[in-house]
Amino acid sequence: MKIYNTMSRQKEEFQPLEPGRLKLYACGPTVYNYFHIGNARAFVVFDVLRRYFEHLGYEVIYVQNITDIDDRIIQQSIDEGISFHDVAAKYTKAYFEDCAALGLKAPSVQPKATDVMPEIIALIDKLVQLGNAYEAGGDVYFAAQTLPQYGALSGKKLDDQLAGARVEENAQKRHPADFTLWKKSKPGEPVWQSPWGEGRPGWHSECVVMSQKYLGETFDIHGGGVDLVFPHHENELAQATAITGKPLANYWMHNGFLNIDGEKMSKSLKNFFTAREILAEYPAEAIRFFFLSKHYRSPIDFNREVIEESDRAVKTLYASLKSILSADFSEDEIASSANCLSSEFDAAMNDDLNTAKAIAVLFELAKSARNEKLHDELRKNNAYMLIKLGRVLGFFQNLRAELADRTPDLSRQLIDLIVAYRMDARAAKDWAASDRIRDDLARLGIELKDSREGSTWTIKEK
Ligand code: AMP
Ligand code: ZN
Repeated sequence: MKIYNTMSRQKEEFQPLEPGRLKLYACGPTVYNYFHIGNARAFVVFDVLRRYFEHLGYEVIYVQNITDIDDRIIQQSIDEGISFHDVAAKYTKAYFEDCAALGLKAPSVQPKATDVMPEIIALIDKLVQLGNAYEAGGDVYFAAQTLPQYGALSGKKLDDQLAGARVEENAQKRHPADFTLWKKSKPGEPVWQSPWGEGRPGWHSECVVMSQKYLGETFDIHGGGVDLVFPHHENELAQATAITGKPLANYWMHNGFLNIDGEKMSKSLKNFFTAREILAEYPAEAIRFFFLSKHYRSPIDFNREVIEESDRAVKTLYASLKSILSADFSEDEIASSANCLSSEFDAAMNDDLNTAKAIAVLFELAKSARNEKLHDELRKNNAYMLIKLGRVLGFFQNLRAELADRTPDLSRQLIDLIVAYRMDARAAKDWAASDRIRDDLARLGIELKDSREGSTWTIKEK
């Protein structure tokens, strides 16, 4: 398998540290708000990487941190008028809910920064002892110049940072490229005791500790969005290298941005939609398809029409399965299905996760699965293979329910239409019409569930 390594700026043959085992770390959320659909792209990419390695027979240890101490959490606690702890707890819970709704497989370990505070302090202390870090006025900084290889990952030279640093005003730093490891706390902020007084750690130290704690000094793959290359990952790497003299990870993988109107979707630009909002509009697998139909390193533009197309594409895959399988399909047959397209799928994924090509293979399988000119056995084999490979990309999570639902397409479209008319009535505050439609549908066994975002319907089992 070839992986594009940000460190070498080329595709490299993947060699695991231990045969049959993948040690993967991907930076997780800072829990100060609901995560946006751009963050969701990063989470989906590493979810698929993990699923693919499992498909290849690897045991995957996937660590994703939760940053639950940060300036932005403190700011949010002021804005919401609740404690810092409650902000972190509220958005950690929301994070788990949204990940489940997105169909992400839970990472093997999800450590929280506040749970590893003694280890973080020990790491910073060691850097001070080694002469790679210094204390100034209750803060601790990493001295970038002490590490000759500093900048290797991002390609940023120390001198360039000197030139661009005039705007930064921090008299305590010895060099503009020095970065904070420990921050002295201001009154009212959460504090931890340390050899440098009361304060809290910087984000870059947290990830070093959380990755190495569960994966060892050097692990296989470190991932995140491309915005993390500098400074976050460069600064993680600097600390680890200063201490161990070894690389933190052998491969660095970075996903491209989800853009909106040509700009990176981000909290700070306020040009974002939360994953929650988008999940209320579209099925999770349509969103997943939207991400995976482009290469993970390419930028993607947020575009509702393309998500709708993705939704139709996913529905075509399900419909192809439905044309030949029923809800009592067997997992054994999926596991034992074999087909030459499987190696085509693997070849695509082995080429630095070419999910767009892998999806094209799924469509070839879908075409054969619904081809009535073929033998049923052959069609079924293609269908099983489609399920097996589709699951590697995280599709078909609703398979049994979808196959059990035998509502013909036209009926489905008619019900959708009636429900849309009822939404119009509600919008016009015509409650009598809205109630009548709901009751009439109920008489036919169609149950409506209203929420802020709209109505969903189900057919009651007789
Ligand atoms: P954060 O909570 O900002 O640290 O982001 C969590 C993950 O989402 C990181 O891997 C980021 O690099 C990634 N990320 C943030 N914004 C975007 C975006 N617009 N498109 C893709 N990935 C993003
Ligand atoms: Zn990180």
